[in-house]
Amino acid sequence: MSSVERVLVVGGGIGGLSTTMGLRRAGIEVDVVELNPAWDVYGVGIIQPGNAVRALDALGLARRAIEEGFGFSGSRMHLADGTMVATQDAPPLAGAEYPPMNGITRPRLHEIFTSAVLESGARVVLGESVERIDQLADRVDVAFTDGTSATYHLVVGADGINSRVRAMVFDPDLRPSYTGQVCWRYNVPRPEDLDGIWMFMGSRGKAGIVPLAPDLAYLLLIEQPPVGDDGEPVVRLGVEGLAGIMRERLAEYGGLIGDLRDRCVRDDAAVVYRPVERVMLPAPWHRGRVVLVGDAAHATSPHIGQGAAMAIEDAVVLAEELASDQPVDQALASYMARREPRARFVFDTSRRIQELELAHDHGPENSELIVQSMIRTAEPI
Ligand SMILES: Cc1cc2nc3c(=O)[nH]c(=O)nc-3n(C[C@H](O)[C@H](O)[C@H](O)COP(=O)(O)OP(=O)(O)OC[C@H]3O[C@@H](n4cnc5c(N)ncnc54)[C@H](O)[C@@H]3O)c2cc1C
Repeated sequence: MSSVERVLVVGGGIGGLSTTMGLRRAGIEVDVVELNPAWDVYGVGIIQPGNAVRALDALGLARRAIEEGFGFSGSRMHLADGTMVATQDAPPLAGAEYPPMNGITRPRLHEIFTSAVLESGARVVLGESVERIDQLADRVDVAFTDGTSATYHLVVGADGINSRVRAMVFDPDLRPSYTGQVCWRYNVPRPEDLDGIWMFMGSRGKAGIVPLAPDLAYLLLIEQPPVGDDGEPVVRLGVEGLAGIMRERLAEYGGLIGDLRDRCVRDDAAVVYRPVERVMLPAPWHRGRVVLVGDAAHATSPHIGQGAAMAIEDAVVLAEELASDQPVDQALASYMARREPRARFVFDTSRRIQELELAHDHGPENSELIVQSMIRTAEPI
């Protein structure tokens, strides 16, 4: 039986909601505190590799994610002009009844998580956060920003890349760093023959197109932008004319990408543009009775599409360890031992692929790293 009966999860995103589902399935009482009063997410999509589908299945959510997304079996690599150079099939890690991979819009995935969490009996408080965390021998006293307070057996920090819990309990000076690349995303109608992730190698990074639903896909460009004297990208968030700039940055691409660029990328407000950042907290990600999951502990660049997959896996493993008959400190140590090497591998592999892109290196190492990452993430968690 678990020695933890009441848990606070800080952050109602992919990691926090997965953790809540895992803990509720183990009969543990959960409160969730989410800073964003609207509890919404931005509109483009997410790639769910086989290990993400497998981890969602452990939470009882894979079937809905596949039904509301677009299942597929692999990826294709092209030159910038649209010439196909390689294909890769992924194994069905979650079992034969599921496709090997899935694409889904972030809002649909969010709705699957939020409705499941609310049905699970967890208590969710929106528009609030933690103000103070006091650790005692066998519990944590938490003061919230609305002036209330409560006591828990454990606090899970799932508050993303700029985690306040990480700053309060672990390291106030550890901040995400800009990686030298930005990501452009734009939803487009799914081209009829798009049956997986199609990537295109350009001179400053890669473009790609990912199916999200029978009628929807998203176009992405991850690239090295022009920088100003301060070393920061010259295109700022919220700038007018983003669609035109995105088209310019896609100018070298032909084939399907060039066609979608010219026909679809028109609406500034529909462009999702973000500098790519990363941060990794050195082990351990637990101190006393506070533990981190997801981007709060390890935010990777998206080069192998594994960030959210790692957050869901963290949640599954943490819930398994907390549900088993062992003291909390042992459960947290086991969580750490099972998660850190895997998250580190994803972080380091993504960084290496990015280094190759920044060095304009299209040699064999890139595809070797992708294959290695498929093998490693297929391993059981
Ligand atoms: C360009 C890009 C593309 C990506 N593509 C993929 C992909 O295809 N596949 C994939 O697996 N991963 C992808 N990722 C990574 C993925 O989005 C993240 O790893 C994932 O969202 C992490 O989930 P999380 O719950 O840890 O953090 P988040 O999703 O950031 O959620 C954190 C939550 O905490 C809330 N919060 C923040 N601060 C506080 C606070 N102080 N108090 C309370 N609540 C708070 C936030 O509002 C949010 O709801 C991509 C990332 C980027 C940048």
